[in-house]
Amino acid sequence: MSKTISINAGSSSLKWQLYEMPAEKVIAKGLIERIGLKGSISTVKFDGRAEKQILDIDDHTQAVKILLDDLMRFGIIKSYEEITGVGHRVVAGGEYFKESALVDSEEVIQKVEELALLAPLHNKANAAGIRAFKELLPDIISVVVFDTSFHTTMPEKAYRYPLPTKYYTENKVRKYGAHGTSHQYVAKEAAKTLGKPLEELKLITCHIGNGASITAVDKGISVDTSMGFTPLGGVMMGTRTGDIDPAIIPYLIEHTEDFNTPEDINYILNKQSGLLGVSETSSDMRDIIAGMHEGNHNCKLAFDIFVDRIQKHIGQYFAVLNGADAIIFTAGIGENSDEVREAVISGLSWFGCDILPEKNVRGAEGIISSDAAKVKVLVIPTDEELVIARDVERFKNQK
Ligand code: ADP
Repeated sequence: MSKTISINAGSSSLKWQLYEMPAEKVIAKGLIERIGLKGSISTVKFDGRAEKQILDIDDHTQAVKILLDDLMRFGIIKSYEEITGVGHRVVAGGEYFKESALVDSEEVIQKVEELALLAPLHNKANAAGIRAFKELLPDIISVVVFDTSFHTTMPEKAYRYPLPTKYYTENKVRKYGAHGTSHQYVAKEAAKTLGKPLEELKLITCHIGNGASITAVDKGISVDTSMGFTPLGGVMMGTRTGDIDPAIIPYLIEHTEDFNTPEDINYILNKQSGLLGVSETSSDMRDIIAGMHEGNHNCKLAFDIFVDRIQKHIGQYFAVLNGADAIIFTAGIGENSDEVREAVISGLSWFGCDILPEKNVRGAEGIISSDAAKVKVLVIPTDEELVIARDVERFKNQK
């Protein structure tokens, strides 16, 4: 038995989960927030306990040091040698990383940094996390797992935009997608639940959380996905627009004071839009549903647009796949909101979908449609950290 740690580093945060492998048992998990700010918070959860401390953490190296110290201090590990592998979630792998990779050279880290061009905040933070572990635990197996890899199988007609070709060849503007580890994981789990080989299934996977994306999975392979060049594309999200008419942007640059710099525009489209922008209340689906039940028009409208965009994307993927065997819901909203699932599926009866109210309850898992349904509907909890830990295990076994 050896231990593997899954790392998800954000610009000011570091989320981690420690596994006993190959048993795939979670021993401890935690989150370090406000890195680089005054009053950073480190939370460690293990054995039913939650330990929180507030201190000043300057950078990711110091955050990793605190995390390792905590593991020792709470007796979760007896020595650093117990940790034999680390897996890092990286947002953008571009066209370069078609699968997870071993960090066995400085070039791999540099490539992750170079790809920050496609995901500026994320990849820089991810690389900082990789470097921090390299510095403190240089001898363990280090693996990078990309949000985009699963989607590198998309055909060119799906990933290219109808822009002048030079913006693809010179600027690398194309669809990359995201949430790949999640879509891949739930597709595999759905095949198990349906009792059929993944290679025989057409699936539409809906990762609906604060960030949301929908993928068309044909025989286990991603053939199209809703997020685009960046995670801003596709369906409406907590604070992101999803797809909008691109002409809106130059129009607002010309006619408002808000749309000035690329930073302003990105901020409005990524942080002030979506459920938050329409409801003017909250980006959290629980608040939107509560507001809707209290008769708040804006919350009801936000809910309706949210559901409409999911339905339209599912409709697109029925066309892309020429039919589907199942629709899978996952992530915060997909796993927990019976109301969103009901609203989405009730509009798709023509396609042969249904949903059973007695099965579509909170905490539901597995098939929630009837035996007669042509297209099954499933709830599968996602587990991106486990996918990362499994990838590390795969590289450990190759050594
Ligand atoms: P992230 O993309 O940040 O990982 P999550 O997958 O955790 O997001 O999803 C967060 C979303 O899930 C929030 O909008 C939250 O309101 C929603 N959510 C969680 N529980 C419920 C619930 N019981 N009903 C409706 N929405 C829920």
